Amino acid sequence: MEFYSGDINKLIDELAALPGIGSKSAQRMAFYIVNLPQDRVKRLSDAIWTAKQNARYCKCCCTLTDRDICPVCANTKRDHKTIMVVETPRDMIAYEKTGRYEGVYHVLHGAISPMNGIGPSDIRLKELIERLHEDVDEVIIATNSSLEGEATAMYISKLIKPAGIKVSRIASGVPVGGDLEYIDEVTLFRALEGRVEM
Ligand code: ZN
Repeated sequence: MEFYSGDINKLIDELAALPGIGSKSAQRMAFYIVNLPQDRVKRLSDAIWTAKQNARYCKCCCTLTDRDICPVCANTKRDHKTIMVVETPRDMIAYEKTGRYEGVYHVLHGAISPMNGIGPSDIRLKELIERLHEDVDEVIIATNSSLEGEATAMYISKLIKPAGIKVSRIASGVPVGGDLEYIDEVTLFRALEGRVEM
């Protein structure tokens, strides 16, 4: 049923299609937006458009960034011989927030999930393997402790170990099935400290 004008409905539909936004929140947001001063709305729409135009994947770690090489990979003070493998850019940010990890990352953009038809070639695994030709001491696997995350960790471990590189898995301070991005920084850091070799 059409309660609002076509234009407002269109805005509500677009907002409701975003992750985590139900139809009630979408309505609230749409009303908020149309009541904002014009320059605020322009800033919001410009920010969305500019971020979209400039968004790309780091040529090294595959995280989402607006440069060819992300700030972490470009930082020569980081330990480039230690690579932490995570599922999403959000997980990478969660570890960055601990402020205690000095290595670099590799973002897979997902996890292997045969049930959902996601195989090794559907995530950024090939790019990780290519990075191992460089001088790498340790690969820390920090995928989520979900079924998919564990399966991905096992797969990567089997793939890398023959190359003679140390492979470790973050400790189980991270609750089973827990998404890394929702875990507090202390727990994350403990999980990193307590990592075990695979
Ligand atoms: Zn990077």
